Amino acid sequence: MTQYISNNIESARNLYRTFGSQLTQDQDISCKLERLKQLIQNTQEEFLSTGIFTECKKCGENAQHCCRAGTENKYDVILLLINLLLGSTLYHKPIHPTVCGFLDRTGCTLKAKHAICLNYICESIQNKIDHKSLIAAQEALGRELDLQFILCEKIKQKIEASEYC
Ligand code: SF4
Ligand code: SF4
Repeated sequence: MTQYISNNIESARNLYRTFGSQLTQDQDISCKLERLKQLIQNTQEEFLSTGIFTECKKCGENAQHCCRAGTENKYDVILLLINLLLGSTLYHKPIHPTVCGFLDRTGCTLKAKHAICLNYICESIQNKIDHKSLIAAQEALGRELDLQFILCEKIKQKIEASEYC
């Protein structure tokens, strides 16, 4: 399992070395990367204002979390590459065998997260956060994930086109 994500991280690093500057010099991709940064920030602000972050922080303080080992294997090479383009280091070192390797003591180390991570609303949050706030948080997530999907497709196309030149 660890080998699978290690291979994907290595492939993402190789793509970054080969295509990183071409991708960041592409105006459309670079605008979308900037916009994705803003939308990630918006989602975080929404999570902060709704109190979701406070609940997650309490979990962390009690050494609890919902970031299970194996979740990292949901990340494909292009989403990992987007993380590199956004400045994540892709540091992967499980702090415990039952924990996702992208989690460190301060939280998730990735910037662009998989839908499976973003969409997870635990029972405690469902019970404690009011419905209107949850909808607002989910709308922010939706905007982030929509753009992330479009950006993945653009990047794939750009890399494929470059490989055929
Ligand atoms: S989503 Fe729920 S289980 Fe996961 S860290 Fe936040 S409060 Fe804890
Ligand atoms: S949010 Fe981050 S640390 Fe948690 S499961 Fe997802 S990738 Fe792993």
